[in-house]
Amino acid sequence: MRWLLVPAVVACLIFPSAPDAAADDPASELRKVEERQQEVEAMLAEAKDDLNRVYWQREQVKVYLQRAENEMYLAQSKHALLEEQRKGVQASWSQLDASARESEKRLESRKGQFYNRLRAIQERGRVSYVGVLLGADSYSDFLSRMEMLKTIVQHDVALMTVIRTDKQKLEAERAVAAAEAARLADLQAQVSEQAAVAAGKQAEFKQQNAALLEQEQALAAEVAKWELEWERLGEEIYEIQLRMKRQAGRFAPMEPLRGRPPITDDFGLGTDPIRGGSRNHGGTDFGVSRGTPVYAIEDGVVIARRYDSVYGNLLIVDHGGGIASWYAHLDGFNVAMGDTVVQGQQIGRVGSTGYSTGAHLHLEIRINNVKQDPMSFFSR
Ligand SMILES: [Zn+2]
Repeated sequence: MRWLLVPAVVACLIFPSAPDAAADDPASELRKVEERQQEVEAMLAEAKDDLNRVYWQREQVKVYLQRAENEMYLAQSKHALLEEQRKGVQASWSQLDASARESEKRLESRKGQFYNRLRAIQERGRVSYVGVLLGADSYSDFLSRMEMLKTIVQHDVALMTVIRTDKQKLEAERAVAAAEAARLADLQAQVSEQAAVAAGKQAEFKQQNAALLEQEQALAAEVAKWELEWERLGEEIYEIQLRMKRQAGRFAPMEPLRGRPPITDDFGLGTDPIRGGSRNHGGTDFGVSRGTPVYAIEDGVVIARRYDSVYGNLLIVDHGGGIASWYAHLDGFNVAMGDTVVQGQQIGRVGSTGYSTGAHLHLEIRINNVKQDPMSFFSR
């Protein structure tokens, strides 16, 4: 948690000493403020790095969280599907069970009849044998009755065989259904386990995400604070430089934009941003957003305020001694033709008018109408 230590450190950097000693010596005051700005810049870079790191960490956690949510959803869907299948198998098991019981009952009742008949044959056989011995006249009648009973018994046996086979088949099917239900229940248990694991992961990643979000917000606030402080120091530097230049009383221009914005195209040979190919760039381009204030680089008089197909909205300030500064592609003007301007005074706003691919300020410095490298006049 390196970033947590930052506020205390920086509080010391921002207010390192009382400003009174530096008041009469702008050069040393400038140096101090510049040093402070560099320190703030380092803090800002560090906070940005940390923010970036936490941001990507959280992006990763979000991916994991999504994955865990998907896993859980999948497990729940599987569980529901298995439940449906299991219920189906259970229902067919119940049906098979009922049929098997029914079969069993039929078999039992058939057995009962069968044994009754056997008993009847036995009894009749014994009685009739005595009867046959006593009077042979009914012997043939006795035999035919016995034959008939035997036929019925044979029929009973055949029927019982059919019922028994049927019952065995039902029992086998019932066993298969029971095994299938058990298998599905097993699968369901596995899937439940998977869902529980996924839910655990989900909770963990949610917690991580919340913690990282908190860090991210704190770091974003840090970054915003350093940026604000960096800008404030930039303004301070500009003010000190302004005072120094005024005291010096000679042509000593200051940059036309505050906060040292990036140079997107240097003076001299380079590539044409629109047509391609090489071209000789007559000034310096600063990449800043539309509407950014543009300041006079030195005291002077506005000698041109017009639209040009190449330069777009153009301001030219004459600084005397054959020196002039050109401000091109402006979105709008803050001064009128003939106005006297002082160094650091806002004279226009950055735009993208004329021959331009996007918002930027094209600055030219000319001495006796010869284009100079503007950056050679500034200390960067
Ligand atoms: Zn340019």
